[in-house]
Amino acid sequence: MDRIETRTLQDLDAAHHLHPFNDNAALAKKGTRILTRGEGVYVWDAEGHKLLDAFAGLWCVNLGYGRTELGQVAARQMTELAYYNSFFQCTTEPAIRLAAKLAELAPGDLNHVFFTNSGSEANDTILRLVRHFWAVQDQPRKNIFIGRHDGYHGTTMGGASLGGMKGMHKQGGLPIPDIHHIDPPYWFGDGGELDLEEYGLVAARRLEDKILELGPERVAAFIGEPIMGAIGVYIPPRSYWPEIECICRKYDVLLVADEVICGFGRTGEWFGSQTFDFRPDVMAIAKGITSGYIPLGAAMFNDRVAGVLKQQGGELAHGCTYSGHPVCTAVALENLRLLQDEGIVERARTEIAPYLAERWQALGEHRLVGEARIAGLMGALELVPDRTKRSYFEDRGKVGALCRDIALRHGLILRATNDAMLLSPPLVITRAQVDELFEKAWVALNETAEALGK
Ligand SMILES: *Cc1c(COP(=O)(O)O)cnc(C)c1O
Repeated sequence: MDRIETRTLQDLDAAHHLHPFNDNAALAKKGTRILTRGEGVYVWDAEGHKLLDAFAGLWCVNLGYGRTELGQVAARQMTELAYYNSFFQCTTEPAIRLAAKLAELAPGDLNHVFFTNSGSEANDTILRLVRHFWAVQDQPRKNIFIGRHDGYHGTTMGGASLGGMKGMHKQGGLPIPDIHHIDPPYWFGDGGELDLEEYGLVAARRLEDKILELGPERVAAFIGEPIMGAIGVYIPPRSYWPEIECICRKYDVLLVADEVICGFGRTGEWFGSQTFDFRPDVMAIAKGITSGYIPLGAAMFNDRVAGVLKQQGGELAHGCTYSGHPVCTAVALENLRLLQDEGIVERARTEIAPYLAERWQALGEHRLVGEARIAGLMGALELVPDRTKRSYFEDRGKVGALCRDIALRHGLILRATNDAMLLSPPLVITRAQVDELFEKAWVALNETAEALGK
């Protein structure tokens, strides 16, 4: 490709490209940042700025940028067989091998894989197939999914309905019928006088109340992210998930873990359910499965659910043209091989997570921070007007955005949701790079506080 001037590209972008989760009018005026290159934990933009990407793209570049092995595998597969479907009693070797690999990595008897292109489609798949699972067992009315307010499960009609983002529900007539929500476990905002573990039980029992309100014979499944990512890295108390599991078992409600962010090492274990000690019946995966190098998602089912779908489900009237795409599944296999063979998940847990936690907690001492929370390589800093109590800025989101922009000027990418600064670096980050992250974040907090006159 011939190089085009950044300014020209920005004009073309403003004229023709609608950006997801953006005010497109405001963005067109400001001009997009164009990223051009990545290496390890760093990316470079068209202006030549080097940025430490402490957000791993969008929670996904677990392996870090610039691994040539993945490109080589993709090129080889494209040359040999670029595409074949899995519909007509056919499939391809990478799809088979990846399904088997995922069954090996996944906890418990989550042994069955349905491939999609994204996390949203994985959750839509789960919504349909779980309802079908109950319907073929003569329980068609057991079709309600319970999710959580402020949860995020993607952007399709099903995914956005399962999620509890109010701003998303406002657009396009959501949620679709037979989806209900309970309040999330968010101690900082909601814990009151309760201690953390007590609060975890209280938050979990909201599920039991909701099941009893709707009638257990109506409730198909509960879905949740082990750690709620998009809303601001809400890390549940340890007591939460085991209690949720108990409640699901008691009423024969399927437990669905949306592991799209937590999966593949983000929390220090391969899956968030391992970190938080519960056994899902079904899980959604995407993002880290390919470290973002190519799109891929999947729904995984345990023996019970897959057994019913296979024995009684008849023809599955569901699928994507690219389900099990050979190039995407080949790249995923190579990504998982590298994560495993190079001990990246293990190293993230034993070497990086404890050090990162120590530095992150030190950021929590800053006068602008009300709470620093972190689990594995996923964290948040709640920026507050008054750190002597759990408080919020009046105009929520402004201070977070300010801090994010200041950090960027210092070469650090953090995400802001409301006034929480979110952390999710590539798993390959080194201790020296953690130090760099810490120093840049501290400067950004200082300058943000100064801008607020604090
Ligand atoms: C990103 C995300 C999704 C949606 O995945 P897409 O690939 O963007 O469709 C679903 N669930 C969670 C928890 C996510 O973070």
